Amino acid sequence: MPLISCPDCKTAISDTASTCPKCGYQVTPEKIAEIKKEEAKFVVGCFTKIVKVSVALTGINLCIF
Ligand SMILES: [Zn+2]
Repeated sequence: MPLISCPDCKTAISDTASTCPKCGYQVTPEKIAEIKKEEAKFVVGCFTKIVKVSVALTGINLCIF
């Protein structure tokens, strides 16, 4: 089962849990959907950054050789 991070204390909790076991934060299905969307955005952002860096490095290599 996938894990999400609690918006309150950042503890990894199951996306099927209704409350955070650590701080008792109420995790509603709407909240889970929101968190998952945010996490997906973050992953895409990182990937875009990596691609940009690789392209930049390739460009530098082409200049050297
Ligand atoms: Zn929590």
